[in-house]
Amino acid sequence: MDSSPYSFQRIDSMNKSSNSSQNVNPSASSKAARNRMKAARRRDTAPEMALRAALHRRGLRYRVDVSPIKGLRRRADVVFRTVKVAVYVDGCFWHGCPIHGTWPKANAEFWRQKIEHNKKRDADTNRLLKEAGWEVVRVWEHEDPEDAAERISNIIRSKHDQKTV
Ligand SMILES: [Zn+2]
Repeated sequence: MDSSPYSFQRIDSMNKSSNSSQNVNPSASSKAARNRMKAARRRDTAPEMALRAALHRRGLRYRVDVSPIKGLRRRADVVFRTVKVAVYVDGCFWHGCPIHGTWPKANAEFWRQKIEHNKKRDADTNRLLKEAGWEVVRVWEHEDPEDAAERISNIIRSKHDQKTV
């Protein structure tokens, strides 16, 4: 049995991570770059925590930060194994959100490649999981967590219905 559906250990990282994706400091390029690298690997971000809490309130249980497919290094933020649904919470900066995605002027080429690489990887992950019979749900960090949880909850419910028929 899982000890807790979500942990609050890293809640201290919430302050640091909030809004960092939208503020680009053109002067501190290499330091900013390092910080962004760290941010890219960070888990338990504020938007993830909010979504997980909203899912939990809907009575849904899930695994956190695990790879849906063994041997495939594509960890999803929230995983519903029995119905094969994987949820990714995508940061607006890192994944090039159409609304909030920014293209920094300093080191423009570096960031452009980085973001394009992430987007390609996302598309690739979607494809690989779909091929393995998974449904991938992508949530932007700017999305209302309640709306996203409702969307996911409906998908989970319909998968359960399909299974019991
Ligand atoms: Zn956004």
